[in-house]
Amino acid sequence: MREIFTTISRPVKGATEKTGQWRTFKPLLDKKKCTRCLRCWILCPDGAIQRNEDESVEINLEYCKGCGICANECPVKAIRMVREE
Ligand code: SF4
Ligand code: SF4
Repeated sequence: MREIFTTISRPVKGATEKTGQWRTFKPLLDKKKCTRCLRCWILCPDGAIQRNEDESVEINLEYCKGCGICANECPVKAIRMVREE
């Protein structure tokens, strides 16, 4: 049997700078819809989604660049993107 190895990156805070200053769209999380699947936490490229001990999630807008991946990948559409004021 062949052994298969893979690498999983762990989310961390923005590697370069805080991003909240230049973002055009921001994610809004509806906690009532969230099933705590952690998909957004795994996929956010900037580690801007925080995982709490009870597996709930929060979005740290200081490090979010507004890419929309979390909103696109959320299976229950608990995150939607809205334009920054
Ligand atoms: S919009 Fe992009 S950077 Fe912001 S929380 Fe979602 S996946 Fe992370
Ligand atoms: S992907 Fe959606 S349902 Fe899953 S933890 Fe994130 S917001 Fe909640």
